[in-house]
Formats: sequence, C-alpha cells, structure tokens
Amino acid sequence: MFETLTPPPQDRIIDIMGLYAADARPEKVDLGVGVYRTEGGRTPVMAAVKAAEARILQAQESKGYVALAGDAGFHAAMRGLILGDAVTPERVAACATPGGTGAIRQVLEMVQRLTPQARIWVPSPSWPNHAAIIGHLGLTQVDYRYYDVDAGGVDRDGMLADLAGAKRGDIVLLHGCCHNPTGADLAAPDWVDLADVFAATGAIPFVDIAYQGFGDGLDEDAAGLRSLAARVPEMLIAASCSKNFGLYRERVGIVLAVTDLGQARAAAAAMLAHLNRQSYAFPPDHGARVVETILTDAELTAQWRAELDAMRTRMTANRRTLAEALRAETGSDRFGFVAAQRGMFSLLPVTEAQVAQLREDHAIYLVSDGRMNVAGLTAETIPRVARAIAQVLA
Ligand code: PMP
Repeated sequence: MFETLTPPPQDRIIDIMGLYAADARPEKVDLGVGVYRTEGGRTPVMAAVKAAEARILQAQESKGYVALAGDAGFHAAMRGLILGDAVTPERVAACATPGGTGAIRQVLEMVQRLTPQARIWVPSPSWPNHAAIIGHLGLTQVDYRYYDVDAGGVDRDGMLADLAGAKRGDIVLLHGCCHNPTGADLAAPDWVDLADVFAATGAIPFVDIAYQGFGDGLDEDAAGLRSLAARVPEMLIAASCSKNFGLYRERVGIVLAVTDLGQARAAAAAMLAHLNRQSYAFPPDHGARVVETILTDAELTAQWRAELDAMRTRMTANRRTLAEALRAETGSDRFGFVAAQRGMFSLLPVTEAQVAQLREDHAIYLVSDGRMNVAGLTAETIPRVARAIAQVLA
C-alpha cells in the first residue's frame, strides 16, 4: 500500500527546525521555532516544575489509568487559571488532551460531529496548524481580516465587518493572547464588540490560548477571553501548557467547553471523553499532574509565577531593544510595532526571498512568512540581527 503514498504537505515551522539543525555555522541565530529560550539559548525545565516532579516522584503510588477526560484536579486548576470566576464551574466541561494541538483537534472533531456544515472562521494570518487540522477533518475554513500590516496592529474594522457575515452555528477561532504569528492582540473593547457579533450572528467563539502569561501577565492575558465568556451562552477553549509551564514534550493541554445549561455541560463532557477514547483513549497524565501540583500549592504557584514573570520580562525587553536597534539602523520608526506587540512572535515585513537571504547570508533563521521568535534574541545577537534586517530590506 505504501507505493501509493504522496508526500504530505510540508509544515513551514517544522521545515525551519531541520534547516537550522543542519547549519554548521557557529554564529547561527534561531528565531524560527516557537519555544522560549533564555539569554543562554536554553529551554530549561522550570524550577517549579522540577519541584512538583520531585513531589510526584515521591508520592505517586500507581501509574494506573486515570480517566478518559484526564484528572478532575487538573480540570479545576486549569478552569481557574483560564476562566477565573467569569462563569460558574457548573457551566464548564473539561477534557485533558495531549498539548494544545490535541485540544484544538478534539474541539474541531466535536464540531465535525455536531455541526459538520459549520464554517470555521480563522484570522488572517494564523498559526498554520489551524488550517492544516481544519482541512484534515474536511471542515470548511473561511478567513477573516485580522492583521493590518501597515499599522502593525489588529484590523478591527475589517475583522468585525467580516465576522458580521458569520452564520448561526459557525465557529470563530480567536487567539486568546500573544497572537501567533503577528503578536498583535485584541484590546478590551474589541472583545466586547466581538460579544455583540456573537449575539447578532449566533456564531460560537473558539479561543485558542497557548501563551497565557507571555503577554502582560496571567490575568491580563485571560481578561479578553473572560469578558467574552461572561457575555456569550457558549464558548470553546483550547489551552496549552507547553509554553507557560515549559512542558512542551510532556504534551499538556485542555479543552474547556462553556455551555449554557448544566445538562449541556454533562453532554459535552461525555462527548469529549468519548472523542479521547477514539483517538488515544487516556490523555498523558504526568505533565497535567505537574500543572495541578503547582497550581494547588501556594508556594509552588508563587515560584512558577516568578519564573514566568522573568520570561515575559525578558521577551518584552528584547522587543524594546530590537525596536531601538532597528530604529538606529534604518533611521525610521517603521519597526515600532515590535516593541508594542506581545508574546513570543512578531511578523517582519519581509518576503520569502528576504527570509532566505537572512538565512543564507547572515545565518539568521525566521519562518518563511517572516515570523520571528523574540525569545530567540539575546543582547549579543540583537545588533547583528537588526543590521541584517536593515540590510536585506534596503
Ligand atoms: N495554538 C497556538 C497558537 C500555538 O502557537 C501552539 C504552539 N505552537 C499551539 C496552539 C499548541 O501547542 P502545543 O500542542 O505544543 O501545546
């Protein structure tokens, strides 16, 4: 059967990982793949995670299966972290998944089951795996205007105008914070306007939140999502603990389905557990247990928050320093958006050919669409990166 195989579509982010690994130049700079890095270029295990793991190692007496939807303590901890007290717990169905990607997949699987005719509205641009999964499931994608390249911010009027065309039951994908790849986030009034769009159209919001704590703070980054949750009858959330807990390879994610009735909550919870059963049965437990251990212990929570704060501060400082260096190199303010944006990514206004030039001539790796991981910058590399960007754009 394998002779009929044609190569699967390439993933530009995974591609860049391979190119970077194969590059022997010692001065190479990885601004491609979306993992946090320290000034020393490492992606370390957080100390709070190590401490939680030590406790788990000590106390865990069984590796027996947990439950199809994962551990209830993890659900409650994540519900609090993400939703705060925006909605009552009785309205929220939860299901642990392998990473945020697993959560996105399970949400879309549920949509495919319940409303296969629903259209999935996706911001333009978005994380490429959104479109890949939607296409894989045979669902229909509609792009909506999101990023205003010239302003380096959200095209809110374009977005609201496009989404006004959504139909009842359509799904509207939103990034909770730290939009990937643009770094341009919705402001508080935008979330209120979106709630009005959902009320008018009957479309359902689906919030992907993969970087809570990387923007302005844990509560600040969830504020928009919470304000929307408080205003709409139904909402889907896919969250990842890969970045804010540094648990990438442990695969920790969760689906939260906000429902309008207690009965609907039970039905949604049962469906999500059923979908887990069909895909991989039980979701991974270790990373989820680490997250629960941290979030249910005041001391570990404080330690984790301090570490997360330091990561965020480093990224914001990198943004400022790079924007200043680019101003000095180019003599213009056109890169001011880099300092104003949030999270790990910004989208540089470069062509694919210019991305290749940065890679080939300067050993600087960006994703082919111009996405730059600001956590990959260091005090040492920023001047060189700024000079190279100015050069290829000259
Ligand atoms: N959503 C977005 C927007 C992302 O950027 C990512 C990670 N790149 C994810 C979801 C999922 O991450 P993971 O599956 O590693 O938890």
